[in-house]
Amino acid sequence: MTTHTAECPSSPEIGESAELVCRNPRTGKSLGSVPISSSEETRSAVAGAREAAITWAALGARERRRHLDRWRRTIADHRGELLGLLSDEAGKVPADALLEVNLALHHLEWAAANAGRALAPQRAHSGLMMLGHSSTLVRRPYGVVGVIGPWNYPVYTPMGSIAYALATGNAVVFKPSEYTALIGQWLVDAFADAVPDHPVLAAVHGDGATGAALVEAGVDKVAFTGSAATGRRVMAGCAQSLTPVLMELGGKDAAIVDTDADLDDAADAIVWGALMNAGQTCAGVERVYAVDEVYDSLLERITQRAGQLRAGVDYGAIAMPTQIDVISRHVDAALADGGRAVVGGRESVRAPFVDPVVLVDVPEASTAVREETFGPVLIVNRADDVHDAISRANAAPYALGAAVFGRRRGRWIAEQLRSGMVSVNGVVDFGAVPALPFGGNGASGFGRIHGMPGLQEFTTCTSITERRLRLPIRPQRFSRSPVDLGALILLLNRHRWVRR
Ligand code: NAD
Repeated sequence: MTTHTAECPSSPEIGESAELVCRNPRTGKSLGSVPISSSEETRSAVAGAREAAITWAALGARERRRHLDRWRRTIADHRGELLGLLSDEAGKVPADALLEVNLALHHLEWAAANAGRALAPQRAHSGLMMLGHSSTLVRRPYGVVGVIGPWNYPVYTPMGSIAYALATGNAVVFKPSEYTALIGQWLVDAFADAVPDHPVLAAVHGDGATGAALVEAGVDKVAFTGSAATGRRVMAGCAQSLTPVLMELGGKDAAIVDTDADLDDAADAIVWGALMNAGQTCAGVERVYAVDEVYDSLLERITQRAGQLRAGVDYGAIAMPTQIDVISRHVDAALADGGRAVVGGRESVRAPFVDPVVLVDVPEASTAVREETFGPVLIVNRADDVHDAISRANAAPYALGAAVFGRRRGRWIAEQLRSGMVSVNGVVDFGAVPALPFGGNGASGFGRIHGMPGLQEFTTCTSITERRLRLPIRPQRFSRSPVDLGALILLLNRHRWVRR
């Protein structure tokens, strides 16, 4: 019997029967249920995964790639079911669902193909003090990785951890969001169908209590994606057992528009970056800083484009009911703090949908500018010049992604930003490049998924030195002679010869 209780009033139903009832956010209709995992069941899932991880790790990257490719094909073959679930359970419109599944499979393919390189031993120079030695860094999987996922991209986001952890030889116990449990279970079932001999991907279900139980269940690493507030609790749990943790947290991404930007293209990209998936994108655009010269022309284009879009048609529903309150609060705060709405306003909130809201002149100290809104609300503020734009973009506590529009100085501006990722003349483009690491700085977290660093994130390493030559000078022994000490003095003196 479970010990779980609902954490907030609008959590999905977590009833006596220990079942999580999954609902369509648009209609509230039940779509089915999954059993809630007790702490004991969570521990046993980790123990089972640990056993399966041994043979999985021993397969080697090439053999694992064959299995992961089979999983990829299974997902692609049954895409209709997954796309349907993304629409029903996560409230997405078909185009958003299609993009998400494409991105996830692109990453799965890359991780499987490149894990061998990430695990290859790396030679290091031994240096003067260790002449006669070879030095090598060897990597191996952690064992069992606990992946805790959010609901906004229930396939793409956890895949950034699951695919990369599996490819490097780990087993994974996955706790999907309680709002998208059916999608999480579908992915795990598809893996079991495709790779029946290796039960290295298991799901546990429930709300935050199941997530906390997973953190305490003896996993070797936790990969958490979610809000900064929950991230702090997960870190506190990991601190008890010194379990390493990867934190993919929220964002308040800015787009900077420079004087020589293509304004039509910038407006197109910004409006999509702000409103796609109903604004429920960690690296979606929430703030725009356009330099004075182009501000009015850009705003006109953004207003015109955003004004034509409608929730429920061009993008989907707000999947988590409590988010509606956050969105409303931020719109209220922006207006109360002196901002103006040029598209929509408070009336745009008609749960579970929110029509586009574009706000201008919102003071930088407003909650609406500093905190993650996670809804289809875009703030477009005027910057004196590009330096002002950069400093305002960098002032938020979050530093996940960013976008820059401009010809001459695009790359230079990108390099001045604190964010973990920047797209120049595009939005969230970095998320579609599997070879590029994904992750944030500051309140947006630490560690990386995707790319080589994302594969190595799921490996632990051992540094090995090996004596190859028995040199006559050996100062690291009690038997050292005056000649050994003379060699040490010589090595030390070398540092005095550097140019003053
Ligand atoms: P959330 O923090 O509410 O929940 C995330 C997950 O943590 C869920 O599975 C939840 O059940 C679990 N959880 C809750 N309490 C827990 C606890 N005490 N211990 C362990 N697990 C616990 O986040 P959400 O609302 O599901 O997702 C939205 C957030 O995720 C946004 O802030 C968004 O920006 C962020 N996000 C970040 C990225 C990224 O890559 N940086 C990607 C997607 C979403």
